[in-house]
Amino acid sequence: ELYNKILEMKGNIRVFCRCRPLNTEEISAGASMAVEFEAAKDGELTVKGNGAPKKTFKFDAVFGPQADQVDVFEDTAPVATSVLDGYNVCIFAYGQTGTGKTFTMEGTDEARGVNFRTLEELFRIIEERKQHFRYEICVSTLEVYNEQIRDLLVSSHAGATAKRLEIRQLGEGNHHVPGLVEAYVNNMSEVWDALQTGSNARAVGSTNANEHSSRSHCIHCVMVKGESLLNGECTRSKLWLVDLAGSERIAKTEVLGERLKETQNINRSLSALGDVIAALATKSPHVPFRNSKLTHLLQDSLGGDSKTLMFLQISPHENDLSETLCSLNFASRQD
Ligand code: ADP
Ligand code: MG
Repeated sequence: ELYNKILEMKGNIRVFCRCRPLNTEEISAGASMAVEFEAAKDGELTVKGNGAPKKTFKFDAVFGPQADQVDVFEDTAPVATSVLDGYNVCIFAYGQTGTGKTFTMEGTDEARGVNFRTLEELFRIIEERKQHFRYEICVSTLEVYNEQIRDLLVSSHAGATAKRLEIRQLGEGNHHVPGLVEAYVNNMSEVWDALQTGSNARAVGSTNANEHSSRSHCIHCVMVKGESLLNGECTRSKLWLVDLAGSERIAKTEVLGERLKETQNINRSLSALGDVIAALATKSPHVPFRNSKLTHLLQDSLGGDSKTLMFLQISPHENDLSETLCSLNFASRQD
């Protein structure tokens, strides 16, 4: 089974499953949980409900409703901070809308997510290593919507018209988006300002901000240049922090026009991502990076000795069971 192959390659691809708690409305409506976490520490969860037989899924880690942002970051930090050692890293949040993708990545002011904690940790390590290494950090923030790349740092300036950005290959392992703004940052407050600017710009120009954010992929790229002060050796690496579009299936018969195109583009890019991860996990000689803007953009940072971490976000609610099973199967599917 594919998932076992993913587990064997522990160093490179990891899947963490995170389940949000039932919210107050769900609890007061008497909702019941369709997911059990008895063996969460062993990376297992069990799905039940609707009279169907119980089914168990295994992950590199399982975070149940009680797990907090600190618990999640503890297991995320080693992967994320390896960008300072020259590794390319991709961290994704995948799942149905409302399952906590943005909560995990971005978090809230009271409960900071992976993005904030990672950057804070990167600057802490940079400070700790300053006798031996000099680092330069810059960030880009973009979104992929309808298979188009939009620069969220540039379009946040009033009056700027969105440029159409394309991916170019400058050489082996060197994909690039000419014209994309790269902001140099020296500390936590500068980097956080840049990322917040980007997140805020996401909503601009859309009639429904929530709806738009669930229909586009939000991508932060942290570019690291490291130089050893002992021997002058340089490394260049990238950390991608990706809040994916909602994975919920929308029947094509329910939507028309723009919305249909949008739906097809989301389905295409999420399945392209799944195909790429499956190809990497099975060490397939052909990895289909070019099937979507998302995988094409991330091509240099997927596979090889790059590290990939996928947060598979799920809802515990009985009513979401069929979407939950789709998500669980996405990470354990066989090709
Ligand atoms: P998504 O980005 O997948 O659509 P959100 O991150 O917006 O989902 O989460 C939906 C709601 O659930 C938000 O109000 C969020 O704060 C809350 N939430 C999600 N995950 C958790 C969690 N693990 N603990 C507490 N609240 C959560
Ligand atoms: Mg979201």
